[in-house]
Amino acid sequence: MKDTIIIKIDAENIDGKLIEKCAEILREGGIVAFPTETVYGLGADALNSGAVKRIFEAKGRPPDNPLIIHVSKTADILPLVKEIPENAYKVMEKFWPGPLTLIFKKSNIVPRETSGGLSTVAIRMPDHPIAIKLIEKSGAPIAAPSANISGKLSPTKAEHVIEDLMGKADVIIAGGDCDVGVESTVLDMTGEVPVILRPGVVSRETLEKVLGRVLVNSLAESLDKTKGKPDTMNTKHIHYSPKAKMMIIQGGLDSMVAKINELKNRYGKENKKVGIICTDETRGSYEKDTEEIIIKSLGSRKHPETIAANLFKILREFDKTDVEIILCESINDTEIGQAIMDRLKKAASTIV
Ligand code: AMP
Ligand code: MG
Repeated sequence: MKDTIIIKIDAENIDGKLIEKCAEILREGGIVAFPTETVYGLGADALNSGAVKRIFEAKGRPPDNPLIIHVSKTADILPLVKEIPENAYKVMEKFWPGPLTLIFKKSNIVPRETSGGLSTVAIRMPDHPIAIKLIEKSGAPIAAPSANISGKLSPTKAEHVIEDLMGKADVIIAGGDCDVGVESTVLDMTGEVPVILRPGVVSRETLEKVLGRVLVNSLAESLDKTKGKPDTMNTKHIHYSPKAKMMIIQGGLDSMVAKINELKNRYGKENKKVGIICTDETRGSYEKDTEEIIIKSLGSRKHPETIAANLFKILREFDKTDVEIILCESINDTEIGQAIMDRLKKAASTIV
């Protein structure tokens, strides 16, 4: 156990001295958790293999799971990559800073620890004033995976990071809640046609408007492809496991509600404590919260961006209860809905 310093920074009125102190810790090879617009990240100097190793140790992350490098300006990617394809400039111009990570062929200065042993490297520019200032002041590209214990839910609030990394990180910057709430879209730019390796709020539809054809690597396909290979598709390792067994129920709204109520009664008879994850549109179709049942709404289906922002927070709230089974509604699998369903499926053990 180490002494972790918690430093509170107001994103709207950033204290330069505090950022400088955190940047100095990064320059000296320390690990610092900081907010981004997607989720909190646990950062280290991406070019310092010793510092990067400490991220893997703190998270308990398998060494073949590559990290995303965060930069504060586009020019900073030049030393990190072998080449920049023409269409990569187009998406960087349009979506950076923002929740889009691009995969490039890596240059030799990126240590194998950072890229998980791959010949490619993942880079993005976050859209968060604290993250940008911190990277800028550190003077280094910052490798940062999500600031949670490996296999657990990604953190969208400072308190989530404190729960997971107290005694493990050097510093936790408490800088408010993350707006987006799901991790960045990961887009592989190394092939002829760009491929989405992980869906995020920058959707395939939105990317296709800029790039033309974009492929999506489905979860099932990538599971097959990554067998025995590095986890380039983000699927080989365990993700987002909530404590309770989670079931996703698919179908139209009415049939989903009916199925969830039926399952709830069945598990209730077995004396299992049940939780329900629903939406504002269906909340009234379930009973009230009781000792036996906890019901939480993700928000309105009309605002998928709110659902994305609430997702990990609500799953973490269930981890604090003694619920054994979570019955979760599914969301329309379009645009942002794809990122939401990807995370729900990774968290669930069954889909019915
Ligand atoms: P995290 O920030 O914790 O979500 O982890 C970063 C994720 O980015 C990894 O799990 C990979 O899915 C993806 N990633 C990072 N580098 C690469 C790469 N070189 N090729 C493909 N995917 C990558
Ligand atoms: Mg992660």
